[in-house]
Amino acid sequence: MATKLLNNIFCNGRKLTNVRYFARNIRKDPFKKTLDVLAIDMPSFSNKKKDFVYPEHSDIVIIGGSHIGSAIAHALKARTGEGLSVVVIEKDFTFKKAQNNVVLGTLSQHFSLPENVHLSKYSIDFLRGVRETLNEDCDLQYTPTGSLVLAGEKYADKLEENIVMLNELGVRNQVLTKTEINRRFPWINTQDIKLGCMAIEGEGTFNSWSLLKALVQKSKELGTTYVNAEVVGFDVEKQKDVLMEGVTPGTFRRINKVIYRTEDNEEYALKFAVCVLAAGSNSGHLAKLAGIGTGKDILQIPLPVEKREYNVYSVEGKASETGLCTPMVMDTTGLWLMRNGMENNLLCGNLPLMKDDTKNMSEQEYLEKLIKPSLINRFPSCENAEINKFTKESHDCNTYDNSGILGPHPYHNNLFLATGFGRLGCQHAPGIGKAITELIIDSQYMTIDLTRFGFDRFLMNEALVEFNVY
Ligand SMILES: Cc1cc2nc3c(=O)[nH]c(=O)nc-3n(C[C@H](O)[C@H](O)[C@H](O)COP(=O)(O)OP(=O)(O)OC[C@H]3O[C@@H](n4cnc5c(N)ncnc54)[C@H](O)[C@@H]3O)c2cc1C
Repeated sequence: MATKLLNNIFCNGRKLTNVRYFARNIRKDPFKKTLDVLAIDMPSFSNKKKDFVYPEHSDIVIIGGSHIGSAIAHALKARTGEGLSVVVIEKDFTFKKAQNNVVLGTLSQHFSLPENVHLSKYSIDFLRGVRETLNEDCDLQYTPTGSLVLAGEKYADKLEENIVMLNELGVRNQVLTKTEINRRFPWINTQDIKLGCMAIEGEGTFNSWSLLKALVQKSKELGTTYVNAEVVGFDVEKQKDVLMEGVTPGTFRRINKVIYRTEDNEEYALKFAVCVLAAGSNSGHLAKLAGIGTGKDILQIPLPVEKREYNVYSVEGKASETGLCTPMVMDTTGLWLMRNGMENNLLCGNLPLMKDDTKNMSEQEYLEKLIKPSLINRFPSCENAEINKFTKESHDCNTYDNSGILGPHPYHNNLFLATGFGRLGCQHAPGIGKAITELIIDSQYMTIDLTRFGFDRFLMNEALVEFNVY
Protein backbone atom coordinates (compact mmCIF):
# COMPACT_ATOMS: atom_id res chain seq x y z
CA MET A 1 0.00 0.00 0.00
CA ALA A 2 2.03 2.97 1.06
CA THR A 3 5.67 3.76 0.58
CA LYS A 4 8.00 2.88 3.43
CA LEU A 5 10.30 5.68 4.40
CA LEU A 6 13.33 5.84 6.60
CA ASN A 7 13.91 9.35 7.71
CA ASN A 8 14.52 11.79 10.50
CA ILE A 9 11.43 13.24 12.09
CA PHE A 10 11.11 16.19 14.42
CA CYS A 11 8.09 15.50 16.56
CA ASN A 12 6.93 17.45 19.63
CA GLY A 13 10.36 19.04 19.89
CA ARG A 14 12.20 15.68 19.94
CA LYS A 15 14.23 14.51 17.01
CA LEU A 16 13.30 10.92 16.28
CA THR A 17 15.97 9.37 14.11
CA ASN A 18 15.43 6.49 11.73
CA VAL A 19 11.75 6.21 12.49
CA ARG A 20 10.03 3.90 10.10
CA TYR A 21 6.54 4.88 9.09
CA PHE A 22 4.04 4.73 6.32
CA ALA A 23 3.41 7.88 4.36
CA ARG A 24 -0.31 7.22 4.27
CA ASN A 25 -0.74 6.86 7.98
CA ILE A 26 2.03 6.87 10.49
CA ARG A 27 0.16 6.11 13.69
CA LYS A 28 -3.02 4.13 13.69
CA ASP A 29 -5.00 2.23 16.24
CA PRO A 30 -4.99 -1.47 15.07
CA PHE A 31 -8.72 -1.77 15.83
CA LYS A 32 -9.53 1.28 13.67
CA LYS A 33 -7.19 -0.08 11.00
CA THR A 34 -9.21 -3.33 10.87
CA LEU A 35 -12.48 -1.38 10.68
CA ASP A 36 -11.08 0.72 7.86
CA VAL A 37 -10.09 -2.40 5.90
CA LEU A 38 -13.57 -3.86 6.44
CA ALA A 39 -15.13 -0.55 5.44
CA ILE A 40 -13.60 -0.82 1.97
CA ASP A 41 -15.75 -3.91 1.30
CA MET A 42 -18.65 -3.06 3.61
CA PRO A 43 -19.12 0.70 3.79
CA SER A 44 -21.60 0.40 6.69
CA PHE A 45 -18.61 -0.50 8.93
CA SER A 46 -17.15 2.95 8.46
CA ASN A 47 -18.23 5.85 10.64
CA LYS A 48 -16.01 8.34 8.77
CA LYS A 49 -17.15 10.89 6.25
CA LYS A 50 -17.09 8.67 3.17
CA ASP A 51 -15.43 10.94 0.67
CA PHE A 52 -12.68 12.57 2.72
CA VAL A 53 -9.22 11.25 2.01
CA TYR A 54 -6.43 12.69 4.13
CA PRO A 55 -3.98 14.24 1.66
CA GLU A 56 -0.46 12.79 1.38
CA HIS A 57 0.99 15.45 -0.86
CA SER A 58 0.31 18.95 -1.99
CA ASP A 59 2.15 21.75 -3.76
CA ILE A 60 1.48 24.14 -0.88
CA VAL A 61 0.56 23.31 2.69
CA ILE A 62 -0.55 26.12 4.99
CA ILE A 63 -0.42 25.58 8.75
CA GLY A 64 -3.27 27.57 10.36
CA GLY A 65 -6.54 28.43 8.61
CA SER A 66 -7.55 31.64 10.39
CA HIS A 67 -7.46 35.10 8.75
CA ILE A 68 -3.88 34.97 7.50
CA GLY A 69 -3.79 31.27 6.50
CA SER A 70 -7.11 31.47 4.67
CA ALA A 71 -6.24 34.78 2.98
CA ILE A 72 -3.07 33.12 1.63
CA ALA A 73 -5.03 30.06 0.44
CA HIS A 74 -7.56 32.33 -1.26
CA ALA A 75 -4.93 34.47 -2.99
CA LEU A 76 -2.98 31.41 -4.18
CA LYS A 77 -6.03 29.66 -5.63
CA ALA A 78 -7.49 32.86 -7.09
CA ARG A 79 -4.23 33.33 -9.00
CA THR A 80 -3.40 29.75 -9.99
CA GLY A 81 -6.76 27.93 -10.17
CA GLU A 82 -6.20 24.23 -10.82
CA GLY A 83 -2.50 24.89 -11.36
CA LEU A 84 -1.51 24.48 -7.72
CA SER A 85 -2.82 22.17 -5.05
CA VAL A 86 -3.28 23.92 -1.71
CA VAL A 87 -3.98 22.23 1.63
CA VAL A 88 -4.77 24.14 4.83
CA ILE A 89 -4.28 22.26 8.09
CA GLU A 90 -6.32 23.83 10.90
CA LYS A 91 -6.68 22.29 14.32
CA ASP A 92 -9.83 24.11 15.42
CA PHE A 93 -12.54 24.82 12.89
CA THR A 94 -14.63 26.63 15.48
CA PHE A 95 -11.76 29.16 15.54
CA LYS A 96 -12.58 29.66 19.23
CA LYS A 97 -8.95 30.31 20.02
CA ALA A 98 -8.20 32.30 16.89
CA GLN A 99 -7.27 35.77 17.94
CA ASN A 100 -10.00 37.99 16.64
CA ASN A 101 -13.02 35.91 17.44
CA VAL A 102 -14.73 38.44 19.71
CA VAL A 103 -13.52 41.99 19.29
CA LEU A 104 -14.49 44.00 16.22
CA GLY A 105 -11.74 44.21 13.64
CA THR A 106 -10.45 47.72 13.31
CA LEU A 107 -9.09 49.19 10.16
CA SER A 108 -6.46 51.88 10.55
CA GLN A 109 -3.94 53.51 8.26
CA HIS A 110 -2.06 55.47 10.83
CA PHE A 111 1.37 53.85 10.86
CA SER A 112 4.96 54.99 10.79
CA LEU A 113 6.22 52.10 8.63
CA PRO A 114 5.26 52.64 4.96
CA GLU A 115 4.86 48.85 4.63
CA ASN A 116 2.00 48.93 7.16
CA VAL A 117 0.36 51.87 5.37
CA HIS A 118 0.56 50.09 1.99
CA LEU A 119 -0.87 46.89 3.48
CA SER A 120 -3.77 48.86 5.00
CA LYS A 121 -4.51 50.56 1.71
CA TYR A 122 -4.52 47.20 -0.05
CA SER A 123 -6.92 45.79 2.56
CA ILE A 124 -9.29 48.74 2.29
CA ASP A 125 -9.67 48.11 -1.44
CA PHE A 126 -10.05 44.38 -0.82
CA LEU A 127 -12.75 44.93 1.82
CA ARG A 128 -14.58 47.41 -0.43
CA GLY A 129 -14.83 44.72 -3.13
CA VAL A 130 -15.41 41.77 -0.83
CA ARG A 131 -18.87 40.96 -2.18
CA GLU A 132 -17.50 40.62 -5.72
CA THR A 133 -14.28 38.87 -4.72
CA LEU A 134 -15.48 36.51 -2.01
CA ASN A 135 -19.20 36.20 -1.56
CA GLU A 136 -22.14 38.42 -2.39
CA ASP A 137 -23.74 37.65 0.99
CA CYS A 138 -20.66 38.67 2.97
CA ASP A 139 -21.79 41.35 5.42
CA LEU A 140 -18.75 43.07 6.90
CA GLN A 141 -20.87 45.63 8.78
CA TYR A 142 -18.20 48.20 8.08
CA THR A 143 -18.62 51.30 10.25
CA PRO A 144 -16.48 54.30 9.28
CA THR A 145 -15.74 55.49 12.82
CA GLY A 146 -12.35 56.97 12.00
CA SER A 147 -9.51 56.83 14.47
CA LEU A 148 -7.92 59.60 16.46
CA VAL A 149 -4.23 59.35 17.37
CA LEU A 150 -3.15 61.62 20.21
CA ALA A 151 0.37 62.91 20.82
CA GLY A 152 1.77 64.66 23.87
CA GLU A 153 4.64 67.17 23.76
CA LYS A 154 7.26 64.41 23.51
CA TYR A 155 5.94 62.74 20.36
CA ALA A 156 4.24 65.64 18.57
CA ASP A 157 7.19 66.02 16.16
CA LYS A 158 7.12 62.30 15.36
CA LEU A 159 3.39 62.52 14.68
CA GLU A 160 3.96 65.46 12.32
CA GLU A 161 6.67 63.51 10.47
CA ASN A 162 4.22 60.64 10.13
CA ILE A 163 1.52 62.89 8.76
CA VAL A 164 3.89 64.07 6.01
CA MET A 165 4.58 60.44 5.07
CA LEU A 166 0.86 59.55 5.14
CA ASN A 167 0.06 62.48 2.84
CA GLU A 168 2.81 61.39 0.44
CA LEU A 169 1.28 57.91 0.34
CA GLY A 170 -2.17 59.34 -0.40
CA VAL A 171 -3.76 58.73 3.01
CA ARG A 172 -6.05 61.72 3.47
CA ASN A 173 -5.98 62.92 7.05
CA GLN A 174 -6.68 65.87 9.26
CA VAL A 175 -4.32 67.36 11.82
CA LEU A 176 -6.21 68.50 14.90
CA THR A 177 -4.88 71.08 17.33
CA LYS A 178 -5.70 70.88 21.02
CA THR A 179 -8.52 73.43 20.55
CA GLU A 180 -10.01 71.47 17.67
CA ILE A 181 -9.90 68.23 19.66
CA ASN A 182 -11.69 70.01 22.52
CA ARG A 183 -14.35 71.35 20.20
CA ARG A 184 -15.06 68.05 18.43
CA PHE A 185 -14.62 65.70 21.36
CA PRO A 186 -15.37 67.66 24.54
CA TRP A 187 -15.21 64.46 26.64
CA ILE A 188 -11.45 64.14 25.99
CA ASN A 189 -9.06 65.74 28.49
CA THR A 190 -6.44 67.53 26.35
CA GLN A 191 -4.31 68.99 29.13
CA ASP A 192 -1.27 66.87 28.25
CA ILE A 193 -2.03 66.70 24.50
CA LYS A 194 -0.30 68.76 21.83
CA LEU A 195 -1.62 67.31 18.59
CA GLY A 196 -4.04 64.78 17.14
CA CYS A 197 -4.49 63.18 13.74
CA MET A 198 -7.58 61.64 12.11
CA ALA A 199 -7.68 59.91 8.77
CA ILE A 200 -10.56 61.16 6.65
CA GLU A 201 -11.44 57.86 4.97
CA GLY A 202 -10.77 54.14 5.23
CA GLU A 203 -10.69 53.90 9.03
CA GLY A 204 -13.31 52.13 11.06
CA THR A 205 -14.49 48.77 12.33
CA PHE A 206 -15.67 45.63 10.58
CA ASN A 207 -16.94 42.20 11.50
CA SER A 208 -13.78 40.11 11.26
CA TRP A 209 -15.71 36.87 11.77
CA SER A 210 -17.71 37.51 8.55
CA LEU A 211 -14.44 38.12 6.71
CA LEU A 212 -12.98 34.83 7.96
CA LYS A 213 -16.09 32.83 6.99
CA ALA A 214 -16.09 34.32 3.50
CA LEU A 215 -12.34 33.68 3.02
CA VAL A 216 -12.69 30.02 4.05
CA GLN A 217 -15.77 29.47 1.90
CA LYS A 218 -14.25 31.07 -1.20
CA SER A 219 -10.93 29.26 -0.76
CA LYS A 220 -12.82 25.96 -0.60
CA GLU A 221 -14.85 26.84 -3.70
CA LEU A 222 -11.59 27.54 -5.53
CA GLY A 223 -10.32 24.08 -4.63
CA THR A 224 -8.38 24.46 -1.37
CA THR A 225 -8.55 21.34 0.81
CA TYR A 226 -9.11 22.11 4.51
CA VAL A 227 -7.97 19.38 6.89
CA ASN A 228 -9.12 19.38 10.50
CA ALA A 229 -5.91 18.29 12.23
CA GLU A 230 -3.00 19.51 14.28
CA VAL A 231 0.50 19.74 12.87
CA VAL A 232 2.79 17.95 15.34
CA GLY A 233 6.10 17.72 13.52
CA PHE A 234 8.14 17.92 10.34
CA ASP A 235 10.00 15.31 8.39
CA VAL A 236 13.49 16.32 7.21
CA GLU A 237 15.70 14.84 4.56
CA LYS A 238 19.49 15.08 4.49
CA GLN A 239 20.93 16.95 1.51
CA LYS A 240 24.68 16.58 1.94
CA ASP A 241 25.51 18.26 -1.36
CA VAL A 242 23.77 21.55 -0.46
CA LEU A 243 26.20 24.32 0.43
CA MET A 244 24.81 27.34 2.23
CA GLU A 245 26.55 30.34 3.73
CA GLY A 246 26.64 30.05 7.50
CA VAL A 247 25.90 26.31 7.46
CA THR A 248 28.56 23.63 8.07
CA PRO A 249 29.08 21.76 4.74
CA GLY A 250 27.40 18.35 4.60
CA THR A 251 24.92 19.06 7.41
CA PHE A 252 22.02 20.59 5.48
CA ARG A 253 18.60 19.03 6.09
CA ARG A 254 15.52 20.12 4.22
CA ILE A 255 11.99 19.86 5.62
CA ASN A 256 9.80 18.06 3.13
CA LYS A 257 6.75 16.79 5.02
CA VAL A 258 4.47 17.93 7.79
CA ILE A 259 3.23 15.35 10.26
CA TYR A 260 -0.36 15.98 11.32
CA ARG A 261 -2.64 14.37 13.87
CA THR A 262 -6.34 14.07 13.18
CA GLU A 263 -9.30 14.19 15.58
CA ASP A 264 -9.17 10.37 15.67
CA ASN A 265 -5.62 10.60 17.02
CA GLU A 266 -4.18 9.20 13.81
CA GLU A 267 -1.02 10.63 12.30
CA TYR A 268 -0.35 11.31 8.64
CA ALA A 269 2.56 12.71 6.69
CA LEU A 270 1.99 15.20 3.89
CA LYS A 271 4.74 15.90 1.38
CA PHE A 272 4.92 19.47 0.13
CA ALA A 273 6.88 21.75 -2.15
CA VAL A 274 6.24 24.83 -0.02
CA CYS A 275 4.98 25.11 3.54
CA VAL A 276 3.51 28.36 4.91
CA LEU A 277 3.52 28.89 8.66
CA ALA A 278 0.48 31.01 9.62
CA ALA A 279 -0.30 29.54 13.02
CA GLY A 280 -0.61 32.78 15.01
CA SER A 281 0.90 32.59 18.47
CA ASN A 282 1.75 28.90 18.03
CA SER A 283 4.15 29.73 15.17
CA GLY A 284 7.24 30.04 17.41
CA HIS A 285 6.60 26.57 18.82
CA LEU A 286 5.96 25.03 15.38
CA ALA A 287 9.13 26.63 14.01
CA LYS A 288 11.05 24.83 16.75
CA LEU A 289 9.67 21.54 15.44
CA ALA A 290 11.42 22.38 12.16
CA GLY A 291 14.65 22.94 14.11
CA ILE A 292 14.41 26.76 14.00
CA GLY A 293 15.93 28.00 17.24
CA THR A 294 17.12 24.58 18.34
CA GLY A 295 19.88 23.86 15.82
CA LYS A 296 23.31 25.16 14.90
CA ASP A 297 24.44 27.98 12.63
CA ILE A 298 21.44 29.89 11.15
CA LEU A 299 19.12 27.51 12.99
CA GLN A 300 20.25 28.92 16.33
CA ILE A 301 17.99 31.93 15.86
CA PRO A 302 14.43 31.22 17.00
CA LEU A 303 11.23 32.58 15.46
CA PRO A 304 10.46 35.15 18.18
CA VAL A 305 6.69 34.73 18.28
CA GLU A 306 4.88 34.20 21.55
CA LYS A 307 1.37 34.32 22.86
CA ARG A 308 0.42 37.49 24.72
CA GLU A 309 -2.89 37.66 26.53
CA TYR A 310 -4.67 40.73 27.71
CA ASN A 311 -8.07 41.78 28.92
CA VAL A 312 -10.51 43.96 27.07
CA TYR A 313 -12.78 46.01 29.36
CA SER A 314 -16.27 47.35 29.00
CA VAL A 315 -17.01 50.82 30.35
CA GLU A 316 -20.74 50.54 30.97
CA GLY A 317 -23.29 53.15 29.91
CA LYS A 318 -20.78 55.66 28.53
CA ALA A 319 -21.31 55.46 24.77
CA SER A 320 -24.34 57.78 24.91
CA GLU A 321 -22.06 60.49 26.36
CA THR A 322 -19.40 60.20 23.67
CA GLY A 323 -21.96 59.89 20.88
CA LEU A 324 -22.32 57.97 17.64
CA CYS A 325 -19.30 59.65 16.05
CA THR A 326 -16.84 58.31 18.66
CA PRO A 327 -13.62 57.47 16.82
CA MET A 328 -11.26 54.73 17.96
CA VAL A 329 -8.95 56.72 20.22
CA MET A 330 -5.26 55.85 20.59
CA ASP A 331 -4.00 57.45 23.75
CA THR A 332 -0.45 58.58 24.49
CA THR A 333 -0.11 55.74 27.01
CA GLY A 334 -1.02 52.77 24.77
CA LEU A 335 -4.65 52.76 25.88
CA TRP A 336 -7.24 52.38 23.13
CA LEU A 337 -10.95 53.10 23.39
CA MET A 338 -13.82 52.55 20.99
CA ARG A 339 -17.61 52.17 20.87
CA ASN A 340 -19.01 48.65 21.01
CA GLY A 341 -21.05 49.02 17.82
CA MET A 342 -24.52 50.31 18.66
CA GLU A 343 -24.36 49.19 22.32
CA ASN A 344 -24.21 51.75 25.11
CA ASN A 345 -20.80 50.64 26.39
CA LEU A 346 -17.28 51.57 25.36
CA LEU A 347 -14.52 49.01 24.97
CA CYS A 348 -10.98 49.68 26.02
CA GLY A 349 -7.67 47.92 26.53
CA ASN A 350 -3.97 48.49 26.52
CA LEU A 351 -1.78 47.60 23.56
CA PRO A 352 0.19 44.49 24.52
CA LEU A 353 3.79 45.26 25.32
CA MET A 354 6.74 43.60 23.64
CA LYS A 355 8.25 42.84 27.03
CA ASP A 356 5.76 40.86 29.01
CA ASP A 357 6.02 43.22 31.98
CA THR A 358 2.45 42.62 33.06
CA LYS A 359 2.56 38.83 33.24
CA ASN A 360 3.05 38.79 37.01
CA MET A 361 0.23 41.26 37.64
CA SER A 362 -3.09 39.98 38.94
CA GLU A 363 -6.15 40.95 36.90
CA GLN A 364 -7.13 43.44 39.61
CA GLU A 365 -3.66 45.05 39.55
CA TYR A 366 -3.73 45.22 35.74
CA LEU A 367 -7.05 47.06 35.85
CA GLU A 368 -6.14 49.37 38.74
CA LYS A 369 -2.52 50.17 37.79
CA LEU A 370 -2.54 50.09 34.00
CA ILE A 371 -6.02 50.66 32.63
CA LYS A 372 -7.85 52.93 35.07
CA PRO A 373 -5.22 55.69 35.48
CA SER A 374 -4.91 56.20 31.67
CA LEU A 375 -8.66 55.88 31.14
CA ILE A 376 -9.61 58.38 33.83
CA ASN A 377 -6.88 60.83 32.84
CA ARG A 378 -8.05 60.90 29.23
CA PHE A 379 -11.80 60.49 29.83
CA PRO A 380 -12.42 62.01 33.27
CA SER A 381 -16.14 61.20 33.24
CA CYS A 382 -15.24 57.49 33.47
CA GLU A 383 -14.09 57.98 37.05
CA ASN A 384 -17.26 56.56 38.57
CA ALA A 385 -18.26 54.34 35.67
CA GLU A 386 -18.77 50.60 36.10
CA ILE A 387 -15.87 48.80 34.40
CA ASN A 388 -16.18 45.08 33.70
CA LYS A 389 -13.93 42.58 32.00
CA PHE A 390 -15.38 42.08 28.52
CA THR A 391 -13.12 39.34 27.21
CA LYS A 392 -9.60 37.95 27.37
CA GLU A 393 -7.79 38.10 24.05
CA SER A 394 -4.52 36.70 22.92
CA HIS A 395 -2.30 37.68 20.05
CA ASP A 396 0.90 36.60 18.32
CA CYS A 397 3.56 38.95 19.62
CA ASN A 398 6.89 39.26 17.86
CA THR A 399 8.99 39.74 20.98
CA TYR A 400 11.96 41.05 18.98
CA ASP A 401 10.45 44.23 17.50
CA ASN A 402 6.65 43.78 17.53
CA SER A 403 6.36 43.91 13.70
CA GLY A 404 5.14 41.21 11.31
CA ILE A 405 7.41 38.44 10.01
CA LEU A 406 6.95 37.56 6.36
CA GLY A 407 8.78 35.61 3.69
CA PRO A 408 11.01 32.56 3.36
CA HIS A 409 13.14 31.33 6.22
CA PRO A 410 16.84 31.78 5.30
CA TYR A 411 17.70 28.12 6.01
CA HIS A 412 14.46 26.30 5.16
CA ASN A 413 13.80 28.25 1.99
CA ASN A 414 10.69 26.15 1.31
CA LEU A 415 9.15 27.40 4.58
CA PHE A 416 7.38 30.76 4.28
CA LEU A 417 6.56 32.66 7.46
CA ALA A 418 3.42 34.79 7.86
CA THR A 419 3.08 35.56 11.52
CA GLY A 420 3.82 37.99 14.35
CA PHE A 421 1.48 40.70 13.04
CA GLY A 422 -0.19 40.93 16.45
CA ARG A 423 -3.15 43.24 16.47
CA LEU A 424 -2.75 44.03 12.76
CA GLY A 425 -3.03 40.47 11.47
CA CYS A 426 -6.67 40.58 10.62
CA GLN A 427 -6.70 43.89 8.74
CA HIS A 428 -3.46 43.06 6.91
CA ALA A 429 -4.51 39.49 6.02
CA PRO A 430 -5.64 40.21 2.39
CA GLY A 431 -2.34 42.02 1.61
CA ILE A 432 -0.33 39.27 3.28
CA GLY A 433 -2.17 36.69 1.14
CA LYS A 434 -1.24 38.59 -2.01
CA ALA A 435 2.39 39.08 -0.88
CA ILE A 436 3.02 35.40 -0.05
CA THR A 437 1.41 34.39 -3.37
CA GLU A 438 3.81 36.67 -5.23
CA LEU A 439 6.82 35.32 -3.35
CA ILE A 440 5.82 31.75 -4.20
CA ILE A 441 4.79 32.28 -7.83
CA ASP A 442 6.97 35.21 -8.95
CA SER A 443 9.86 34.70 -6.48
CA GLN A 444 9.62 38.38 -5.54
CA TYR A 445 7.21 41.00 -4.22
CA MET A 446 5.36 42.57 -7.15
CA THR A 447 2.71 44.77 -5.47
CA ILE A 448 4.15 45.94 -2.13
CA ASP A 449 7.80 45.54 -1.22
CA LEU A 450 7.70 43.86 2.17
CA THR A 451 11.33 42.70 2.19
CA ARG A 452 11.99 44.48 5.48
CA PHE A 453 9.49 42.17 7.23
CA GLY A 454 11.77 39.20 6.43
CA PHE A 455 13.44 36.89 8.98
CA ASP A 456 16.85 38.21 7.87
CA ARG A 457 16.50 41.19 10.19
CA PHE A 458 16.95 38.86 13.17
CA LEU A 459 20.23 37.62 11.68
CA MET A 460 21.44 41.18 11.05
CA ASN A 461 20.03 42.43 14.37
CA GLU A 462 18.11 45.24 12.66
CA ALA A 463 14.83 45.88 14.46
CA LEU A 464 11.90 47.23 12.44
CA VAL A 465 9.78 49.17 14.89
CA GLU A 466 6.30 50.55 14.26
CA PHE A 467 5.81 53.81 16.18
CA ASN A 468 2.06 54.10 15.92
CA VAL A 469 1.71 54.80 19.63
CA TYR A 470 2.43 58.19 21.05
C1 LIG B 1 -7.87 42.05 21.38
C2 LIG B 1 -7.46 41.92 19.96
C3 LIG B 1 -7.90 42.84 19.08
C4 LIG B 1 -7.51 42.75 17.78
N1 LIG B 1 -7.95 43.69 16.93
C5 LIG B 1 -7.57 43.66 15.69
C6 LIG B 1 -8.00 44.65 14.81
O1 LIG B 1 -8.73 45.51 15.22
N2 LIG B 1 -7.59 44.64 13.54
C7 LIG B 1 -6.76 43.66 13.12
O2 LIG B 1 -6.38 43.70 11.98
N3 LIG B 1 -6.35 42.66 13.90
C8 LIG B 1 -6.73 42.65 15.19
N4 LIG B 1 -6.30 41.70 16.02
C9 LIG B 1 -5.37 40.70 15.55
C10 LIG B 1 -6.01 39.67 14.73
O3 LIG B 1 -7.12 39.14 15.33
C11 LIG B 1 -5.00 38.59 14.47
O4 LIG B 1 -3.76 39.14 14.17
C12 LIG B 1 -5.44 37.77 13.31
O5 LIG B 1 -6.51 36.97 13.73
C13 LIG B 1 -4.27 36.95 12.87
O6 LIG B 1 -4.69 35.83 12.31
P1 LIG B 1 -3.71 34.64 12.19
O7 LIG B 1 -4.32 33.82 11.12
O8 LIG B 1 -2.32 35.04 12.04
O9 LIG B 1 -3.67 33.98 13.65
P2 LIG B 1 -4.80 33.29 14.52
O10 LIG B 1 -6.08 33.99 14.34
O11 LIG B 1 -4.29 33.11 15.89
O12 LIG B 1 -4.89 31.88 13.86
C14 LIG B 1 -3.91 30.89 13.95
C15 LIG B 1 -4.58 29.59 13.57
O13 LIG B 1 -3.60 28.57 13.53
C16 LIG B 1 -4.17 27.41 14.08
N5 LIG B 1 -3.09 26.57 14.58
C17 LIG B 1 -2.18 26.87 15.53
N6 LIG B 1 -1.34 25.84 15.72
C18 LIG B 1 -1.71 24.86 14.85
C19 LIG B 1 -1.22 23.55 14.58
N7 LIG B 1 -0.20 23.02 15.24
N8 LIG B 1 -1.84 22.82 13.63
C20 LIG B 1 -2.91 23.33 12.95
N9 LIG B 1 -3.42 24.55 13.19
C21 LIG B 1 -2.82 25.32 14.12
C22 LIG B 1 -5.08 27.91 15.20
O14 LIG B 1 -6.08 26.98 15.54
C23 LIG B 1 -5.64 29.19 14.60
O15 LIG B 1 -6.86 29.02 13.94
C24 LIG B 1 -6.67 41.71 17.33
C25 LIG B 1 -6.25 40.75 18.22
C26 LIG B 1 -6.62 40.86 19.53
C27 LIG B 1 -6.12 39.86 20.50
